[in-house]
Amino acid sequence: MDYDIIIVGAGILGLSSAYYLQKNNPNKRILIIEKEGGIAQGETAKAVGMFRNIFTSYTNRLLADTSINFYIHIQKEVMDINLKFDKYLWLVSKEQFERFSSIIESMITSKEIKILEREELRKIKGMNLDVESDEEAKIMGLKNIYKGLLGLKCGSLDQHLLARYYKEQFENLGGEIQFHTKVNRLIIAPKKKLGISKEPFVWQDSRVAGVLTNKGEMYADKIILATGALTNELLDPIGIDSHMKPKKRQVFQIQDSHLNELLNIEGFNDEGTIPFTILPKSGIYMRPVKGEKSFWIGCADDLGRSFSLDTTPEEDFYYYNIYPVLIKYFPQFTNLRVKNLWAGLYAYNTIDGMPYIFEKYGVIVVTGCSGSGLMKADAIGRIVDGLYRGEEFVRLYGNLNFRVSDIGVEKRNVDREEFLL
Ligand SMILES: Cc1cc2nc3c(=O)[nH]c(=O)nc-3n(C[C@H](O)[C@H](O)[C@H](O)COP(=O)(O)OP(=O)(O)OC[C@H]3O[C@@H](n4cnc5c(N)ncnc54)[C@H](O)[C@@H]3O)c2cc1C
Repeated sequence: MDYDIIIVGAGILGLSSAYYLQKNNPNKRILIIEKEGGIAQGETAKAVGMFRNIFTSYTNRLLADTSINFYIHIQKEVMDINLKFDKYLWLVSKEQFERFSSIIESMITSKEIKILEREELRKIKGMNLDVESDEEAKIMGLKNIYKGLLGLKCGSLDQHLLARYYKEQFENLGGEIQFHTKVNRLIIAPKKKLGISKEPFVWQDSRVAGVLTNKGEMYADKIILATGALTNELLDPIGIDSHMKPKKRQVFQIQDSHLNELLNIEGFNDEGTIPFTILPKSGIYMRPVKGEKSFWIGCADDLGRSFSLDTTPEEDFYYYNIYPVLIKYFPQFTNLRVKNLWAGLYAYNTIDGMPYIFEKYGVIVVTGCSGSGLMKADAIGRIVDGLYRGEEFVRLYGNLNFRVSDIGVEKRNVDREEFLL
């Protein structure tokens, strides 16, 4: 056997998993293989870099909250990961507020969010709270802003620095990484070799035993797939269902001095900007990036957006789909052009919007984060290690117990996530 564990993928989830695996299994020889020339160049690089502990699913809240606590620890005690509490601001219509009232109530009680009344929202100069009288807004079904929900333990971090943290910890413990190594196929082998055929017969007890890469075959006791939205490329050919589908998500950068007022507002966060803001329609969000004097704008388009591996950004998508809504609430964006744009893939769990961490035929699969993998990466890494060691429970940061099978497939026990962005 070449290695005890081979992890495919050096994104944030492969790296956090690698760290906990090496830390808790110090005698095991662990290798990460990555097709790109460095760490965090897949979806991790495309992310907007935000974190929040606000989810409708209890499990998601736990995964994110404990991970955020760990990131705060890194920022304070270990290294700068540019963690900032920029906060999240959900602008909600009356109907949305009422629909989620019980969840909102519990979040207020646990001091996770603060309700902002319309008077307070007027501090955001130039924002339009009342759009319903506008004919175009009516056609688009836009609603007046009824309240704001300010997420307090929410903000941004630099995912490249966070990835570097896990990589360095992993390597300091003796872990190895090979770049420019692409897995073309998973190798299935019988547990007991009979020497009559390389490919196992159906009556043989078989498992995923290795990977065929552009540099040859490599074998390990355990293969871990942390290949994000590309997971189906490796699992589909061998008939294992990832339970995940990839979908394009785009980000548009708008930079202009007309936005200065929004980038300089006192009273919401330490940065002195408007928080990361989500509009009441179509999951349109805007992240202020003060240093760049710009906003990154995205949207949770769903129906009509195919499941595919296409990552070509479409500038027209901004002008026809996001812009008309955005300028009704924030007229400052009128006539501003897209300065830069990119697209990545969400690894969508289409059933409950939560990550999957499961083992099938000897391969551990970690995927399905549905657009929020950075903010849960620490908890996910710990769970992958717990699954590898066959533990029933793992300890998340802060000594909270988590049942490993709850986030698997066969004994899955999670509630559906409604706050996907
Ligand atoms: C536009 C956008 C915005 C987002 N914003 C946020 C956000 O604000 N906050 C947040 O928490 N999350 C966000 N996300 C989601 C987040 O990026 C992902 O959940 C997270 O990066 C997933 O990490 P990963 O390690 O699973 O995947 P990846 O980072 O994609 O890592 C997988 C790695 O596997 C490698 N790989 C794949 N196939 C092979 C192969 N065959 N051989 C070798 N190597 C292979 C890839 O090159 C890649 O490096 C966003 C995603 C997108 C697309």
